This record gives sequence, C-alpha cells and structure tokens, in this order.
Amino acid sequence: MNVLVLNCGSSSLRAAVVDHASGKRLGELRVERIGKEARSQLNGGAEQPCTGRNHEEVLAATLPTLVSSLPPDTRIDAIGHRVVHGGESFRQPVRIDERVLAEIARLSPLAPLHNPSNIAGIAAARKALPDLLHVAVFDTAFHSTLPARAQKYALDHELAEKHGVRRYGFHGTSHGYVASLAAKHLGAKVRDLSLITCHLGNGASVCAIEYGRSIETSMGMTPLEGLVMGTRAGDVDVGALLHIARAEGLGIAELDELLNRKSGLAGMTGVGNDMRDIEERASKGDERCRQAIHVFCHRVRKYIGAYAAVLGRLDAIVFTAGIGQNSALVRHHVAHNLGILGADLDEDANRVVRVTADAPVARISSDRSRTQLLVVATDEEHAIAQEAAGIAQNRDKVGQARAIPVAVSARHIHLRPDTVEKLFGQGHKLTPLKDLSQPGQYACEETLDVVGPKRTLKAVRVLGPVRGADQVEVSRTDEFFLGIDAPVRDSGDVRGTPGITLVGPAGTVTLSQGVICARRHIHMAPEDAQHFEVADGDVVEVAIDSAGRDLVFRDVLIRVSPKFRLEMHVDTDEANAAELVPGAEGMLEKTQGSASLVVRSTRDDRGVG
Ligand code: ADP
Repeated sequence: MNVLVLNCGSSSLRAAVVDHASGKRLGELRVERIGKEARSQLNGGAEQPCTGRNHEEVLAATLPTLVSSLPPDTRIDAIGHRVVHGGESFRQPVRIDERVLAEIARLSPLAPLHNPSNIAGIAAARKALPDLLHVAVFDTAFHSTLPARAQKYALDHELAEKHGVRRYGFHGTSHGYVASLAAKHLGAKVRDLSLITCHLGNGASVCAIEYGRSIETSMGMTPLEGLVMGTRAGDVDVGALLHIARAEGLGIAELDELLNRKSGLAGMTGVGNDMRDIEERASKGDERCRQAIHVFCHRVRKYIGAYAAVLGRLDAIVFTAGIGQNSALVRHHVAHNLGILGADLDEDANRVVRVTADAPVARISSDRSRTQLLVVATDEEHAIAQEAAGIAQNRDKVGQARAIPVAVSARHIHLRPDTVEKLFGQGHKLTPLKDLSQPGQYACEETLDVVGPKRTLKAVRVLGPVRGADQVEVSRTDEFFLGIDAPVRDSGDVRGTPGITLVGPAGTVTLSQGVICARRHIHMAPEDAQHFEVADGDVVEVAIDSAGRDLVFRDVLIRVSPKFRLEMHVDTDEANAAELVPGAEGMLEKTQGSASLVVRSTRDDRGVG
C-alpha cells in the first residue's frame, strides 16, 4: 500500500508518499513559512516560492505537483495524519470522520501549538482528496498503556481531573517503531522483551517498554517534561520557576516562551540548539557547551537507571533520533557506568556505527554485555504509513465473523511436582476433579490457602497437570485483598513477579516469584488462526455484546497452538465488568493483525477457588 503521510506544524507541512511495507519514499514535499512567504521543496530539489497563505491553499497548490512527480501508475491508497495529542480519547490510530475531527479539536487545549495545525492539515487534505481513507495517528497513543501510577501528578485531585492534567507522553510512534525493530534484530517478540528506548532529537524522551507496551515515559502532560531538549528545559523544580517569575515579573506567556524556546541546550549554551555545533565548541574548550553536554547525558542516564528499576529486568537500551543515532559522544557519556544494568559499551563499535534505512539497527554493546545497547534508525513517517495501512486493510476484512466462546478464569494455582509434595506430603499426586475446556487441563480436588502481606485467600483451586514453574493467577481485586502488586502477564512468564506464601495440609511454601494477573487471551488452533487471519502473539480488540453491559476489551493476546481449543479467557473482574452471561455475543473491532471475530460468552468457571 502507498500511504500519503502528512505532518502539519503551525507554519510547516511535510508530506511523503511511503510504501507501507518497505518504508521506501516515492515522493516527498516540504513547505516552510506558511502564512508568511511560504517556500516549498519537492523531492529534495530547489526551493520554490509557494502561493498559498494557509494549509488549505498550500496543499491545493502543491499536492498536484507531488502526485505528478510520483512514479507512473503509483496509486495512493490512504492518508496518514500525524496528530500530536490524542488525550484520553484515542488509544489507537483511527479513521477520521466528523466525530473524530471534533474530538481532536476538543483536545486542542492540551496541545495548543500542535493540534490546531494538525486539524488544519486534515481539513485541507480531506478537501483535496475526499474519496480516500484518512487515518489519524497520535503521538500519545502508544503511551495510553501507562499504569495509573505513572500517569498521575501529585496535584489536587479535582483540579487535575477538571483540566485533564495527567501524564500522556509523546514520541509514541517513534518509541513503538524502534522497539519493534530492536525486537526483530534480537530475534524476539517485542512482547517478550523489556526495553528502554531513548529518542534523542530536538525533542527528547525516554520510554520504558514491557510487553510491547509503554509503562513509563519522560514527557508528561506536555512535551516539556523530562530530558534536556534543543530549546526546552525538561525537568525543573517548579519552585525555581515560581522564583524566576516573581523575581523577573514574568507573565504566563513569557514563562511559556522561556521554557519552550529559550531553555534546553540553546538556553544553557547561548549558541543554539544544534548538538553538532555544541560538541564542536565543547571540543575547543567552550565551558558552557561542555557543561550542557554533561547535563544532557546525565539526565538521560538518570532516567535509564530509574526505568530499569521500573521494569525490573532489562534486555536492551535503544538510542534513536538525530542525536541518538549520530552522536557517539552522547552515547558514550550516557552508557558510561551502565555496568550495573549489565550494559557494556563497545567503544569502537560506538565510534563507527552508522544506521540507514536499509540497515536500521546496529549493536554497540560488547559481546559480554548482558543488556544490549542498540542504535536504531527511527522513521516516524514509515510508522504512520504502517498504522494507516493497518486500518485500511482491516476495513477490507470486515465480515469474517465467527463465534468464539468466552471462559471466565477464576483464581487458581499451577504447581511443580516438588511443590505438590511439600504442600500435600511425600509422593502426593494431584487428584483430577473436573476436566477444563482446554484439552488435558483439569481442576483438582486440592486447594491451598494463599497468604499475602495483608490477608489470606482461602481454598484456592489447584489446576493440573503439574508444570515446570509454580504460578498463582489472581485478579486485580484479589491483589488488593492480598496486599500485593502483581503484573499483568502471559501465563508462564513469571520472571520478576512477586512471590507469595502457599499453605497446604502437609506444609508451607514461600514462592520467591510466580504471582500474576493473567493477561486476557484467546486460545486457538492453527486452523482458527488461519480463518481469522491472525498469528500467535497478535493483539486484538474484542467487543463483547453481553446481555449486561457492552464492553470492548483491548489488548487481547492471540495464542496459537495445535493443543488449543478456540476460546477467549478473561478473569473474574473482567467478566463482572462486562456482566458476562451465557450467550452474550461480541464483535472484534480492530486488530494489529487484522481480523474480525464474533465472541460468544459461555460462562465456564475454570477451577473456581
Ligand atoms: P527532531 O526532533 O526535530 O525530529 P532530529 O531527530 O532530527 O530532531 O534531531 C535533531 C538533532 O540531532 C539536532 O540537535 C542535531 O544537532 C542532532 N544531530 C544530527 N546529527 C548529529 C551528529 N552527527 N552529531 C551530533 N548531533 C547530531
């Protein structure tokens, strides 16, 4: 598919026709100084004056030239619009219609510099190309998975709610894109990795990624929080700002200007925001430039350390964007002393590394480094093209409806053979009580008390057969009851999870890890996967049309194995939220892997505790 990717700033416009599969550019257009004396540049050629006075006129004037410069028979299949702020409303890319446009406009107070220009671009493009599919791709969407504790500021609750004041995060398209390239390079699925991605460009942010989902990021409600940037301050003691404002008699607009345009590298050095320039001057002894580089790198390193603690496990640290991809000096300073996280920089590789569109990933860690250090070329336009193509393809596949039963999985325990013996006595074997829906799985007569720091869950059902690792699957409500904080995980992935104490008739075992809140998932056989056109590891959305309350479950994992029978599993909290009753039906709305599913609920409590 060929996607026209549009990125409209307040006085600029960038358009690229991108092959969504390869990322190859078929044509590119840049227009600067819209509203003044606009100048356009087509396919890297000479700058030309441009007649338009606003986005609509500029697009009307330049789009035909871009289209006529494309290779013969090139068809544009869809348009992907970069939109900066999706607020709480948009967690995924969406097809643009009047309702979506109105919602983006409603969110404008959250990004007053960006969303209005994005809207102007969308309106102009819809006018110029009314018959094509227009998709909005949001900078914030990737971070919609931030847990509440990473979203909240410790401010007055009512005031924060009233004004939508929380952490949203930005650069999400880039963080998600480089994470998937890194995973491909490491020969792993992104959902099996813990990553820290450092997008270091003019704007800069760090992101902690677990399960392919953003769980922490350094930008907050606006792109001002976090790292030192080209002209933005990043983290500053708010008290210091109050002090400056008082002492200098600054108003809101002046503070805004100070923090967004006159701070960061430019503010500290007084020589502008270009890191190349700053490095050059630092090497010649400019003390302010030298200090600015150190402050910049120290801040990145500090966030990496913090995010390693947030993740609890780290497979790779990724450097991307203008500075991350090109500055060996910055990477050197940032990676210094990361041995504590198992990361060891290969200085030679760091000096010579070059990433390109054809070879976008390179390793700069040594062979003995447990945590990989990677340089990855970001390409936000390619990422937007992929997202837009995904939406376009999904539209083509509506109608492959088929019922999927939903089973409600109550809290339960899986045990290793030796743990069974410790809890129930020497030589004890689990006693099957009732077969479960997945072939070979059964609920046992045995139950255990699960003892948490706060309270004890009595008589939790053990499931058979025995496994290679002990695992306790509980709901969020159970977690609160027990007083623990277990992560949402795929069954079997217990690394770094909290432990708990199990009390049986013949003994007590304290697990050092193993408590999870099981991620909702759909089991299916390879034939089912073929029917729904999904693959193992895809993440889908399922709209449950229950007799009680209609609900869309996002983030539903597809698990494919010849041993599985088609069935979706949710936990008791999720079932209660949807008021699932036998016979309820649902429809899959959108997937990353493109499919269309109908879901039928057949409340089948597995191993009720
Ligand atoms: P944006 O956020 O505007 O997309 P980019 O990702 O293009 O920014 O990054 C721009 C930054 O990258 C600039 O500060 C520039 O100085 C820096 N940069 C580009 N090449 C180099 C290099 N070789 N060494 C150091 N910094 C570089």
